[in-house]
Parts: sequence; structure tokens; C-alpha cells
Amino acid sequence: MIALISDIHANLPALEAVLADIDSVGEVERIYCLGDVIGYGPYPVECLELTAQRCSLILLGNHEHAVLHGPYLFNPRARRAIEWTKEAIADQTRPMRRKQLTDLLENLPMRHSIDDVLLVHGSPRDPVMEYVLESDLWEGADPSKMDEIFDGFERLCFVGHSHRPGIFTQDRCFLPAGDLHDGYDVSDGNKYLINVGSVGQPRDRDPRSCYVLYTGDAVYFRRVEYDVEQVAGAIRANEALGDHLADRLYKGE
Ligand code: ZN
Repeated sequence: MIALISDIHANLPALEAVLADIDSVGEVERIYCLGDVIGYGPYPVECLELTAQRCSLILLGNHEHAVLHGPYLFNPRARRAIEWTKEAIADQTRPMRRKQLTDLLENLPMRHSIDDVLLVHGSPRDPVMEYVLESDLWEGADPSKMDEIFDGFERLCFVGHSHRPGIFTQDRCFLPAGDLHDGYDVSDGNKYLINVGSVGQPRDRDPRSCYVLYTGDAVYFRRVEYDVEQVAGAIRANEALGDHLADRLYKGE
């Protein structure tokens, strides 16, 4: 069994709670992280170090990309959080630590395959930036987007990025994670694109951290409570981050 986590967003209490939950399952051989370890939250360095220590792989997310290459296409608040994150990493007094963090960020891959399973942050055709959303299935949406996305992987594709967990099926349905309490069998030969949700900033109106266990046959969405108050306090105490980033964590939006 493997665990897939994504979009930690520098939320250390959430990351610790999820790792404890993974440890409690007891049969997880590897943990893969689909990117956005940093951005928005107050603990970028701690989260980078812990993720690097516990995960077999970290993919490049758009927030890591923004720290490396500039926050293009970010709203002013997200941009401010990125600038602060950059400073927090650069401010590391121990030069070794700073160099390790920079090397880690600069060497994150954009995609990873395990047999016929593809892992990316965004989408198969644009692995770092593109969102795959429920609205891509609605009437009036361009069907070629989903066609190209489903052509871009062999059998399964795990993504993060939207912070909205669930499964996109080959016949163009979206099954929200909240409806899949008993897991979902993905071994019938059809293609599935699975959004693993967000550890540190869920946006499906469930404030608990979300991640996925994959057995080889089935996908299980796990929800984990964590100390929102603690991280919200640290966000509010940080001028560069702002209250709205704390408030949204209580509501999961
Ligand atoms: Zn994200």
C-alpha cells in the first residue's frame, strides 16, 4: 500500500497529524507527495524538512515553482505569502540547511510514474500549473480538455492542486471524496484521475486534512483532524500571511 499526500502548504500540525495517521495504518510502504509543500502557511522550512525525510518523492508544485521562478499568476495575497516563504528559506542561519533546502527545491521532478500510474501536481498535460476541476465536466465546457487529459496517462493518474478530493471517471463523472466512505475500486481496467485533496488547506468544506491510500486495487480517502487553532494563531501572528489564510482553515474553503 502507498500513501499519496499533497498541498501541505506549510501547515506543520496538519502534516504531523497525517503522518501519524499513516503510521497508525501500519501497512504503508511508501509516501509520495504531489507538491505544494510550501506557500500560504507559517512553517515552510519545517514542512520541507519533514516531507523530505518521510516521503520517497516530492513533486514540483506551483508554489515551489513560484518560490524558484517568481509568483506569476498569483493573486496579491498569495504572492505576499510566496515572498515571505522565500525569505524564510533564505534566512536560515545555518548555511548547510539553506543549501540543502535550495538544492531540494531546485531538483523536484514534475512527474513520476509507477508502472501504469502517473503522479503529477496539476494535470498530465501541464503537470505543474493546470487545474482539473468539476467545472470541466459541466455543460459548455470544452470537452477536448478532458479528452486530452485522459489521453495523457495510461491507467491511473493521481493529482493535487485544486484541494478538492475525488475521482474523475473515464465516462466524465466526478465522484467527490465525501461520497466514497468505503473506498473505490479502480481495478476494472478503466482510467481514473484521482485528486488526493489537501493536507494543509482543504477546500471541500471539510476542514480535516485529506490524503489517499492506494492498495493497487482501491483508493481510500482519509480525513484527519488536526490542531487548526495552533496553525491559525501562527498565521495571524505573521503579518505577511494575513487573517483570511487562517479563517479559511476553519471552514475548509
Ligand atoms: Zn496547492
